[in-house]
Amino acid sequence: MWAWAAAGALYLGAAAAAVEFAWDRAIDALAQVGAHRLDLYAASLKSELGRFEMMPAIVARQDSVRALLRAGSRASPELLHDVNTYLEAVSDDAGSLAVDVIDLQGEVIAASNWNQSFSFVGTNVSYRPYFKDALVHGTGRFFGIGTNTGMPGLYFASAVRDAGKPIGAAAVKLSVDALEAAWRTPGEAAMVIDSNGVIVISTVPAWKFTAFRPITAQQQRDIQASRQYAGRNVDALPYRRVGEWNGTAWLGRFPDWRRAGHTTQFLVMSRTAPQAGDSITVLLDVATARRQQQIALAFVTGAFLIAGLYALYAAQRRRTIAEKLKAQDALRLANDRLEMTVAQRTAALVETNERMKQEIVERKRTEQRLRDSQQEVVHAGKLAVLGQMAAGLTHELNQPLVAIRTLCDNARTFFERNQPEQAVANLERVAKLVDSMAVLTGELKTFARKPDVERVAVSLSEAVAHARLIYEARIRDEGVQLDVKIPAGTTVWAESSQLQQVIVNLLGNALDAVRNEPKRVITIAAADPDARERVLFTIADSGPGIAPDVLAHLFEPFVTTKPRGHGLGLGLAISSRIVEGFGAKISAANLADSGADGGAQFTIEFAAATSQRVVHGR
Ligand code: ADP
Repeated sequence: MWAWAAAGALYLGAAAAAVEFAWDRAIDALAQVGAHRLDLYAASLKSELGRFEMMPAIVARQDSVRALLRAGSRASPELLHDVNTYLEAVSDDAGSLAVDVIDLQGEVIAASNWNQSFSFVGTNVSYRPYFKDALVHGTGRFFGIGTNTGMPGLYFASAVRDAGKPIGAAAVKLSVDALEAAWRTPGEAAMVIDSNGVIVISTVPAWKFTAFRPITAQQQRDIQASRQYAGRNVDALPYRRVGEWNGTAWLGRFPDWRRAGHTTQFLVMSRTAPQAGDSITVLLDVATARRQQQIALAFVTGAFLIAGLYALYAAQRRRTIAEKLKAQDALRLANDRLEMTVAQRTAALVETNERMKQEIVERKRTEQRLRDSQQEVVHAGKLAVLGQMAAGLTHELNQPLVAIRTLCDNARTFFERNQPEQAVANLERVAKLVDSMAVLTGELKTFARKPDVERVAVSLSEAVAHARLIYEARIRDEGVQLDVKIPAGTTVWAESSQLQQVIVNLLGNALDAVRNEPKRVITIAAADPDARERVLFTIADSGPGIAPDVLAHLFEPFVTTKPRGHGLGLGLAISSRIVEGFGAKISAANLADSGADGGAQFTIEFAAATSQRVVHGR
């Protein structure tokens, strides 16, 4: 907006300057033309008037003219005729309008147009200034309109003297028509203004005998008296001064002689021209200057239009570039934002990652702690087992030892009393107690030893049959129903006597469990659930099941619920170690826990002896 306003102001300034400059230059050129015209017109006026200036003086020296004036009314008609014809010849030769001779009373007594209808002869011109001037000063000059002819002209007069005294005057009247015709130039006006300020020669006929300068009332009266302009009223030329030019010219608005009712501005220049009166004045139409101004204005406007168009183009270009830059900026901003978002997300991820790492470390630490405490528990468990074992052993060995001690003391007493049979009986009982202690330590040896035995394929039904044989009497006496469901030919990887020991132990426990039950059923079964890869051996009873607190420690040594003398709590612990030695697994569960009817169920998961796998024990 501001740029356009500034450009507008600049344009206005430049246009004004250009217009003024063009005007000044054109007016300067016009002023030069005017000066040249003035030179020319002054010269032509001088030469034109110069031709006639001396004419009245020459006529005044003519003898016949003087004789006629001396004779006055007494002059002979011949003399008058001579003078008239002389004047006619002179006027014709010189090309003047008229030549006449005037007596002291101002009466024209002879004239070149003596035989014309408008002859001056007899006319009184005593009121004419040229006549008065001629008598007083010797010469007179006057521009006026002829009273007889009505034709404007320039009068030159000269006194006619006789013995140094004026006796009359000779006057020449000449036309300025030729001069006016010669000066007429298109777009210009030229005029001569007399001492009254009245235009007497003009290339514009209508302006003739109008006042160029304001005329006072006295001047107007004098003009009327001299009948200089044939008694006409002298009107002022209606023009207006509108400006000055360098002191040598001025600008004025004049009625345009080419277009009626219009006024036009002219450059006005003047020069004194004493030959004819006051001054020569030329008017030059400033239309050319106006045209120059228009051309300059057009040039400046064109230049500004081109500059404006270029500015528009540049602005458009700048806008396009700015938009492109803006788009680039927006893209960069979006990119930055994206990068920032990515950075933020990455930071968040890194943070999450860090947190996860910390959590992993924490988990690991917790795991470690758990493992430590587990190991501690295991260790504590082991210690507990050891303590239990030591306590059990002490207990189990202490009783026979006390008994042996007592029996030995008694045996000595019997020897001292000389009762050897009694002493021998005591010693036999000691031997039995030592045997039972040996059994106990033997069993412990089995528990402690890690059996390293070669396993073979052992028939499950044979092992079960062996165990059944051992408890045959009990099963029968206690009325136990024993169901054996083992598919024929089911073999497992084991050591025969150890497997028998395990089954005897499990069957013994089952018989103990059902002893006080109204319903006494024991079921021994085998199945190979996954195509002879594994064999699941189970022995279930209809007993009360295993107490929950016992279940957790079932396979640990010296865990028993049986009354003293009936169980050591070593059976399942030993069985478990044996089974491990086979590469098999033993587990126990209450049938009631899985919703079934019955008491405890023990399961041994064997590797089937039919598989290609050969298992070596530890
Ligand atoms: P013991 O028979 O000398 O007690 P075991 O190690 O053979 O030692 O058994 C430990 C305990 O497991 C038993 O005292 C008994 O409480 C429990 N138990 C074993 N078998 C059964 C079973 N079939 N039914 C119920 N309880 C059983």
